[in-house]
Amino acid sequence: MLGLMQSQPLLISSLMEFAARHHGDGEIVSRRVEGDIHRYTYRDLAARAKRLAHALDALPLAFGDRVGSLAWNGYRHMEMYFGVSGSGRVLHTINPRLHPDQIAWVMNHAEDQVLCFELSFLPLVQAVHKKCPMVKKWVMLCDADKLPADSGIPGLVSYEDWIGAYPDTYVWPQFDENTASSMCYTSGTTGDPKAALYSHRSTTLHAYAAALPDVMCISARDAVLPVVPMFHVNAWGIPYSAALTGCKLVLPGPAMDGQSIYELMEAEQVTYAAGVPTVWQMLLSYIGPKGLKFSSLKRTVIGGSACPPAMITAFQEGYGVEVLHAWGMTEISPLGTLCTLKNKQLKLPKDEQMKILQKQGRAIYGVDMKIVNGEGQELPWDGKTYGDLMVKGPWILDTYYKGSSPLVADEYGQRWFPTGDVATIDPDGFMQITDRTKDVIKSGGEWISSIDIENIAMGHPSVAMAACIGMPHPKWDERPIVAVALKAGAQVTREELLQFYEGKIAKWQIPDDVVFVDAIPIGATGKMLKVRLRQELKDYVLPTL
Ligand code: AMP
Repeated sequence: MLGLMQSQPLLISSLMEFAARHHGDGEIVSRRVEGDIHRYTYRDLAARAKRLAHALDALPLAFGDRVGSLAWNGYRHMEMYFGVSGSGRVLHTINPRLHPDQIAWVMNHAEDQVLCFELSFLPLVQAVHKKCPMVKKWVMLCDADKLPADSGIPGLVSYEDWIGAYPDTYVWPQFDENTASSMCYTSGTTGDPKAALYSHRSTTLHAYAAALPDVMCISARDAVLPVVPMFHVNAWGIPYSAALTGCKLVLPGPAMDGQSIYELMEAEQVTYAAGVPTVWQMLLSYIGPKGLKFSSLKRTVIGGSACPPAMITAFQEGYGVEVLHAWGMTEISPLGTLCTLKNKQLKLPKDEQMKILQKQGRAIYGVDMKIVNGEGQELPWDGKTYGDLMVKGPWILDTYYKGSSPLVADEYGQRWFPTGDVATIDPDGFMQITDRTKDVIKSGGEWISSIDIENIAMGHPSVAMAACIGMPHPKWDERPIVAVALKAGAQVTREELLQFYEGKIAKWQIPDDVVFVDAIPIGATGKMLKVRLRQELKDYVLPTL
């Protein structure tokens, strides 16, 4: 017997309609590429998303066709999130920090037929447009008067001219909620990038889950600043959860340096922010020496790579800002776990709570996880045994776009996504990432967590950033070394740093050497690029050899 409740597909357009009708005057504030601040409301956003939907119909662009965006976090990008997907097309958010050849590659692979790009990306588009013959409409996200007279790009129009020609009323089409809505390519440090193709259903469910109190806890009372870019796994789903909750949304545009972020937070009274550790490192390095404080910031979600415990302490103890450590992946929309304490843990001493809060956290309803050994057998949740982390759920990838399915079936026929991360899970269900499978250091048959080594180094007051990699060793297979970039003006010797490890980890886990570098290489999504670091240190020889 079926239930007798209304059956409505979970569509992204319904988030927009809801936002316009139920919190239409909620504010969306954007710093534009031009440098000024733009303000409007969810109602305005919905109206302009409708104009865009008309413009796509008029091209014409078929249902399911791909529209690329090369854009920062801003209101026009938001309009694309809702206008493109809402009208049944697929939004392909492209990472502008990729090499131009990679940008052309992903555009051709996705078969983008329209590309909307930020004014400041004109040189990039001039470099790639001839390599992308499938694109039939090039649109610059700007006012008509900003359009260059001779861009060399055939038929280039300004976004405002383009959508301005159409009405702001539109009936969003209704279709199967499993229809594709957007896509995002993985960072792809080896081989060609692969795309996760999200659906309306996966995105809407993820938006619900992301807003929950034990997840990102986003409400109508918040002013939310996603520093995580809208081209990096849909800014962790925040644009959708924002429409769902009606929070004030503050979009930083291209300015992600410490000063710009701090000033925007203060001016807009941001209560909640989200980003990768490298962004928060920049913010803390800006405000620390100046003795500045946050007047409104209450919580920040930090994920994308391991959040160093020293950063959690700096935010919590130094500024009274709660840190929510999150783990996710492009393939999982991206949220998988978030670290918030359980009721029974509230009475624990501070240092014990701190140990828990450093973990990547508990699974969000919708995600199931387990750790397995090399034979695929599930391992115990004892907080010590580590294994390959597997996940499943309705917002987790089944098959790569134009690719194969990486899922692995267990003995019950359940299909799990192998994350490529190595983790432990404790009896309370808190997961902790030890490493990427390929980064874990194997020394004398034992594993050493590069994240542990990095976290300790980053707890040293002189260290800005640290990256640990394994170096080949004839006796032990591999030994860890730590590459360290110091804070401006700070000094520390190799010996002092190695001594800093004493008593914090087992003796055999202490790195064999410290290599001082000017900067740790950072990839397109703000994560450490260990592949490049390994190349840079290819002639390095361990002192212990
Ligand atoms: P991406 O798909 O580019 O976002 O990369 C996903 C990968 O980033 C994961 O598989 C992890 O290796 C890593 N990652 C994400 N969040 C965290 C975290 N909180 N701690 C450690 N690693 C993380």
